[in-house]
Amino acid sequence: MYDPKNPPSPASAYRGRFAPSPTGPLHAGSLVAALGSWLDAKKNGGKWLLRIEDIDGPRCIPGADLDIMRQLLACGLQWDEEVTWQSERQDRYKTALEVLNQHKHLYSCACSRQTIANALAVQGIETPRNQEMIYPGTCHPTQIQINALTTEKVAWRLALPKDLIIEFEDKRLGTQKQNLNQAVGDFVLRRNDGLFTYQLAVVVDDAEQNITHIVRGEDLLSNTARQIYLQTLLGYNRPHYLHLALVLDQDGEKLSKQTLATQINTQDSKSALVELQKAASHLGLRGLPSRKDLSIAEWLLAATHAWGNQRIEEK
Ligand code: GLU
Repeated sequence: MYDPKNPPSPASAYRGRFAPSPTGPLHAGSLVAALGSWLDAKKNGGKWLLRIEDIDGPRCIPGADLDIMRQLLACGLQWDEEVTWQSERQDRYKTALEVLNQHKHLYSCACSRQTIANALAVQGIETPRNQEMIYPGTCHPTQIQINALTTEKVAWRLALPKDLIIEFEDKRLGTQKQNLNQAVGDFVLRRNDGLFTYQLAVVVDDAEQNITHIVRGEDLLSNTARQIYLQTLLGYNRPHYLHLALVLDQDGEKLSKQTLATQINTQDSKSALVELQKAASHLGLRGLPSRKDLSIAEWLLAATHAWGNQRIEEK
């Protein structure tokens, strides 16, 4: 029964998130994503969730999740609900994979990276180093069956229909379009070592946590069409997207563990404030107070006000 003292929250109530992979502590680039997503949520009176994306166990650094949480708190970026860890949610991903299987969207594939590279080379396609290979469809059956989802050294791929073009709006970058067949091909949802992939896990988690707004770095833009297609197949709502400009190093490379990005300095509140100010300047926030005696809470409040103006400027 409807309780006027406790009305249901509207379906569209803003819910955002920050979803770091614990492959190391926060660096200047990941702080930009954390701050941008936090400010967007706060500006819109929304909730901001923290999800640790430790789905790819071998890439995770023990303790990095706690380091990230300490750094966020030192910067005043407090999450609003319990933290979730993807490593504890395997059963959810398995259920989603089963649903896709029941609807005949999956097939198994035993191709090695070398087999795929060779098949592409025959077509005259060389994949530059560090780039994902576009799967040429070698194992795609003519008729898809409902399968026994074995984990025996095979990967499970999503069978894409032909000419699958996904279009979506990005708040900063405008209308985006990707032809999934040409850009990625049938992509993997469960790897041959039994691990669920980021694409599947992130879609399931965003839907189950009712995330309405995804604010993250532009390095993830090329994944969005895949995620939207999965949302469609699984009957989930599509969130709004905002991909933020990346922080680059002197060589024009995105900051990452691979490029040995240094972690942000949050040893005391003055240092944390300096890191926040750098991140805000990268986000294009103007006119923020620069007084040295400002508390982080006061600064964040000013930044939340400035966030709205910056968004208007961008349009
Ligand atoms: N875990 C991903 C990363 O750290 C981010 C995922 C997302 O925001 O969708 O790059």
